[in-house]
Amino acid sequence: MDRTTLIAGNWKMHKTPDETEEFIREFSGTYEAAPEVEVLIIPPFTSLERAGKLIPGTGIGLGAQDLYFEEEGAYTGEVAPRMLLACGCSYALVGHSERRALFHEDDPTVNRKLLAALSAGLSPILCVGETLDEHRAGKVAEKITRQLSADLAGVGREDLKRVVIAYEPIWAIGTGETATPEEAQDTIRLIRAWIEEHYDAHAAEGIRILYGGSVKPGNAAALLSQPDIDGALVGGASLQPESFAQIARAALDR
Ligand code: PEP
Repeated sequence: MDRTTLIAGNWKMHKTPDETEEFIREFSGTYEAAPEVEVLIIPPFTSLERAGKLIPGTGIGLGAQDLYFEEEGAYTGEVAPRMLLACGCSYALVGHSERRALFHEDDPTVNRKLLAALSAGLSPILCVGETLDEHRAGKVAEKITRQLSADLAGVGREDLKRVVIAYEPIWAIGTGETATPEEAQDTIRLIRAWIEEHYDAHAAEGIRILYGGSVKPGNAAALLSQPDIDGALVGGASLQPESFAQIARAALDR
């Protein structure tokens, strides 16, 4: 089964609406969109509306960095799925390790957010990954499978088709350290095997699983050449149009 490569840029807390506009203009001037590679930017909430107005016709998709699981109400500071849809988002990250570590998001919360994204019509990008201590202690499989079981609870076969999983070893995020392409492949293979065991072979073949953690123009091709790695979730290197374009071009060459 063909899985369209996805290159997603998580901007974290960077760029104003004007800076977002500048990025979109520069990026679409330097990168020629192609149907084999889906390119997605994930700016802060405050830039989504502007981005949503600028991206039609550029081949760039739009995602949010988080969402809340309620539809509306007295939840100061939170943003509902339908507000993201109204800005033009089709994806939302859920369970990014920074949300889990800095904002104390636990698995039941991640699960509620993922289910809310699905029921609103958004595609969630579920982030999973182990800490350095868990990595050193040989607990990668244990950690990842625990997160998958909890975060995907209640997701049926049909809805799973809209879920993307991003394997992001926490020790590789923003550190310049990357998992080797073989290590990333092995863990992503393990995630696919888990999907096969808990859903079926068809679901496992179809689901897109990304690697994230210090992906740069210099290492993207090697990571993307692995058979189970269906794309990249890129942080730092997605902030400059040229470096993000180089990563997207590496995906075109895979
Ligand atoms: C991320 O934020 O998801 C990420 C992978 O960041 P970086 O590429 O900077 O490590």
